[in-house]
Amino acid sequence: MALTGLQIQKLLPKTNCKECGSNTCLAFAMKLAAKKADLAECPYASDEARTVLGAASRPPMRTLGLGPQKKCLIGGETVMFRHEKTFVHQTALAATVSDADPGALAAAAAARDYVLVRVGEELRLDLICLTNDALAPDAFAEAAGKIHKATRLPLIARSASPLALAKAAEALAGSGSILASAGPESLDTLAAAAKRHGHALAVTAPDLDGLAELTKRAAASGFEDLILDFTAYGAAERFQTMTIARRAALKNECRELGYPCIAFVAAPASDADAAVAMAQASGLICKYASVLAAPGFDPAFWAPLLTLRQNIYTDPQKPIQVEPGVYPIGEPGPCSPVFVTTNFSLTYFLVSGEIENAGLSAWLAVPDCEGMSVLTSWAAGKFSGASVAKFIAERGLAATLEKKVLVLPGYVAQIKGEAEEGLPGWTVLVGPQEVADLESFAKTRLG
Ligand code: SF4
Repeated sequence: MALTGLQIQKLLPKTNCKECGSNTCLAFAMKLAAKKADLAECPYASDEARTVLGAASRPPMRTLGLGPQKKCLIGGETVMFRHEKTFVHQTALAATVSDADPGALAAAAAARDYVLVRVGEELRLDLICLTNDALAPDAFAEAAGKIHKATRLPLIARSASPLALAKAAEALAGSGSILASAGPESLDTLAAAAKRHGHALAVTAPDLDGLAELTKRAAASGFEDLILDFTAYGAAERFQTMTIARRAALKNECRELGYPCIAFVAAPASDADAAVAMAQASGLICKYASVLAAPGFDPAFWAPLLTLRQNIYTDPQKPIQVEPGVYPIGEPGPCSPVFVTTNFSLTYFLVSGEIENAGLSAWLAVPDCEGMSVLTSWAAGKFSGASVAKFIAERGLAATLEKKVLVLPGYVAQIKGEAEEGLPGWTVLVGPQEVADLESFAKTRLG
């Protein structure tokens, strides 16, 4: 029978030391009861607590840390669909290079340096996947070590040779990389190598029963930094199998399948195949790759995937927001107009970007609308003429501006009258509905 938070709290030290990341033992107990924490996160749990809670308190999917400091977290998911609650740890993305390619090091460095800035966040790749297509085990391990040294990124060392993987594990010691992949014969050797050098180990088998058998064996030997590798399947079957595995772990408490999973997208042979590769990679970010390795490094391929990942792995209950405030765009002065929008990040960056593109200097007033878009916040009563007027008055703009021109978003023309009432002395204009029309609006209405 599942224990309640209060029952679990009685088994904890009750010192509220916060080392588990929760403010109190009770808060941690509630997380354990909801299977959103692992008892191992409390360093002071007694043997009795470990015995009683043990596996029962374990989250349905294990969380693993990659990288030298184990900061790149994967797994730990609790729902099948993002809209049920949220996905927890975003898919770690890896650019794949081959050890047969003399330009592998340069491609890995380019992948490491690539940054896509979107809605105020820097989006980057997380790993380099080095495939063993040509080199002997020693040379493969040496190449892996060189790439890690040059990029400081964790690697996915991928080889069909257990010897090459064991040697790569040593060359990559302390980098928090992934060895891919162990089968029934190589499991014991590679689990020992991964454990000794601080890596995660991907395991692979022809079917789910085989995979479950491998994870059970590894767990029994005391090593659980495991990742499920379903690469033996075709694209459609792989989606199906990954979904079945996730459902088994989350809904049926199948411990043996409660691990993150890894997927590899093959290099395209033609332009048509490139579209297929993109479709596969996109699908795998949504369902349910914890780690995704895709071919090479081409910004045109990775930019849409980084954007998709950002969209899927933001918490739908917490819209991405910018700090409320009055932002200068360009070099505004006392005669510059004041545009108003909400603090939903996407809206803010669209409007500020378009003001910049139009070559305007303006103030951008952003009241707190709880991160909602213009129409949503207006419908929720968070963005009204009165609230806009109050915000402008509180920020003291009237005292600093000579020409008091306020531009409201075009979609909420109905709040103009109320804003005018609250802002005597201001000229209140209704801007365009689409930001793309901002430049022509500025030319015709702002002189
Ligand atoms: S680490 Fe353990 S003792 Fe400390 S607050 Fe968390 S549960 Fe309580």
